[in-house]
Amino acid sequence: MSDSVDFLVIGSGIAGLWFALQAVQHGTVRVITKDRPEESNTQYAQGGIAAVWSKEDSYEEHVQDTLIAGAGLCRREAVEVVVREGPDRVRELIDLGAHFTRHHDRADWYDLHREGGHSRRRILHADDFTGAEVVRALRAKGQAEGIRVDDHLVAIDLITERGLSRRCGEIPPAVDTVVGAYLFNPATGEVEVARAKVVVLATGGAGKTYLFTTNPSVATGDGMAMAWRAGAEMSNMEFVQFHPTALFHHTEKHFLISEALRGEGGKLQLPSGERFMAAYDPREELAPRDIVARAIDAEIKRHGLDHVCLDMRHLSREVIEERFPNIHAKLLSLGIDMAVDTIPVVPAAHYFCGGVRVDLDGATSIQHLYAIGETANTGLHGANRLASNSLLEATVFAERAAAHAGGMLGQIAEPREVPAWDVGEAVDSDEQVVILQVWEEIRRFMMNYVGIVRTHNRLTRARRRIRLVQDEIREYYWNFKLTADLIELRNIADVAEMVVLSAMQRRESRGLHYNLDFPEQDSRFIRDTVIQRRC
Ligand SMILES: Cc1cc2nc3c(=O)[nH]c(=O)nc-3n(C[C@H](O)[C@H](O)[C@H](O)COP(=O)(O)OP(=O)(O)OC[C@H]3O[C@@H](n4cnc5c(N)ncnc54)[C@H](O)[C@@H]3O)c2cc1C
Repeated sequence: MSDSVDFLVIGSGIAGLWFALQAVQHGTVRVITKDRPEESNTQYAQGGIAAVWSKEDSYEEHVQDTLIAGAGLCRREAVEVVVREGPDRVRELIDLGAHFTRHHDRADWYDLHREGGHSRRRILHADDFTGAEVVRALRAKGQAEGIRVDDHLVAIDLITERGLSRRCGEIPPAVDTVVGAYLFNPATGEVEVARAKVVVLATGGAGKTYLFTTNPSVATGDGMAMAWRAGAEMSNMEFVQFHPTALFHHTEKHFLISEALRGEGGKLQLPSGERFMAAYDPREELAPRDIVARAIDAEIKRHGLDHVCLDMRHLSREVIEERFPNIHAKLLSLGIDMAVDTIPVVPAAHYFCGGVRVDLDGATSIQHLYAIGETANTGLHGANRLASNSLLEATVFAERAAAHAGGMLGQIAEPREVPAWDVGEAVDSDEQVVILQVWEEIRRFMMNYVGIVRTHNRLTRARRRIRLVQDEIREYYWNFKLTADLIELRNIADVAEMVVLSAMQRRESRGLHYNLDFPEQDSRFIRDTVIQRRC
């Protein structure tokens, strides 16, 4: 007999924790998470959370800013929902204990930042560690509510009625329904069957699909890959946001060098000291994110470099210490003194705008399966994400999904019994190096061929490579016992496949998708790219 709950929530970032706090009012909740409970993209969010907060601001302006960033592909209803419901969610976040930074002159008012693409000051923040503060507050509330969080458990695959009927030789149902998930325990090597009436994918993004990323190592697109393998609709996977400047360092793999440094006069240059931004945009270092990222990418490719440099040496040590205490301290710990040295930087995969296609309640195309947060494609971001909209989206959609799923719970039957995971003839692997090799290969060709600048040839090459590595992974997957690395490798290969398939369908350039063979926008492509695997 396997364990069964009402709500199985996979992921303990802002989306999963928010959902759990609401769902516990309707039924039993179990959150599972594959690393330490706080390890997530949310934990590293620096800038803040966008919400219409001041009297000078309006819903309409936030809606317009979001639509402009999305380059014609936002779903207006999703934008309206997030912008209008967002301020209430932020208020609730404050009520449950999140401390946002107050205005230095008015202690009764929050310090609102303004970020690129926002026409007003509307970013609430907790200094430059907003995400960590949000996670702290949500976890404390979760503990007070007695929500069960099981860490170091890796969800492998969804269990659905169709999958089970195939396995049992029955006729598959016309509409598929999720009934649980298989969970891997790396400490014991065992696989658990977790049954649930409702399963929620809150597994975050997939930055690790690329060689350089600002995301922590948990961001391997597991929820996206699980949904894809189960046959759920996926949308807009080609829109991957790159941050222009992540630290290039052999041990520190995902440290973000904030745009604020360029705002304070930071200059980009080649390792030889030669500046290059003027050749790309009259605004030079202050050009929008995607233009700066593309310029750096072009210089790196042109000169065969592995990084460029950001020069902050025009600022005194005192100013650096006062304005950028966290970045300065971190760099110093790595032997880089911003007052004396230039900072090695590369563009890095930052945020996946696409994901599991959901409706306005976070429901996917598989019954009783929900997707929220970065794993989902709600339609809010369209072809490009407006800064600080993603934390807001996660709270709004987690709230809506919990209300919707909670309302339906009474009509959902107890999930059926599920056969145990079949280990077959699998043996322990003595070739971990294979996993490392394939992992590196995928991340490198994704960076070079399916990164910031794409071409039809590069995409075709990437598709060929993906097929080969997927064959290798499949063989390895069935012959050797599971490890967390193998599960993640299989997932990044599936995410890579989805990004390439989607990018090949969009024969134009729009938002974050830039293809040299189709450099203009084309009105025939004002539509989502929807892909679905036949199961
Ligand atoms: C450096 C950085 C700065 C950012 N700054 C901002 C910002 O200022 N404002 C903003 O709005 N957005 C920002 N973002 C984006 C934002 O942080 C994320 O989009 C958001 O936090 C995603 O939340 P989430 O709950 O969907 O996923 P996450 O917070 O990533 O949580 C995913 C969870 O799922 C777990 N998980 C994954 N796979 C499995 C599996 N197979 N089994 C079990 N558990 C699993 C993970 O361990 C983790 O707990 C930033 C992102 C980064 C990386």
